[in-house]
Amino acid sequence: MATKSLASCIFCKIIKGEIPSFKLIETDKVFSFLDIGPLSKGHALIIPKYHAEKLHEVPDEYFADVLPAAKKIALALGAENYNLLQNNGRIAHQEVDHVHFHVIPKPAATDSEGLVVGWPAKKPSMDELKQLHAEIITKL
Ligand code: 5GP
Ligand code: ZN
Repeated sequence: MATKSLASCIFCKIIKGEIPSFKLIETDKVFSFLDIGPLSKGHALIIPKYHAEKLHEVPDEYFADVLPAAKKIALALGAENYNLLQNNGRIAHQEVDHVHFHVIPKPAATDSEGLVVGWPAKKPSMDELKQLHAEIITKL
């Protein structure tokens, strides 16, 4: 399978072994390794072997191994509570411009370990949701 790579990309360099990493899982489609700045013990990253900045730019076939890899890592870590996270764009907290999925154990119900989530839920009316739904499904 063709792998798109960008010479200046830090995660492409990790895939190629030009930058060292603590590798966990490698398939023909994905590469997985420990995060260098973990939010909790075992925080891992899974990246497609295809350079793209955002999720919607990656061909579907590269995603086939992502969730199986996430499952294997969660099981290996023995994580009972954990988050999968995938950020797209700077204001959505993306720092590295190569698509990546985080597996982040949540070992305690505190803000000091693991992912801390803000959840500013809105209260749309049923009419607003209905109109939005109609708009979206014409584009799917
Ligand atoms: P983002 O905020 O883009 O979703 O997450 C980027 C993640 O990549 C961060 O958690 C950061 O610690 C991790 N990271 C950045 N550079 C490196 C690196 O060179 N090696 C490893 N293993 N992780 C990295
Ligand atoms: Zn890359």
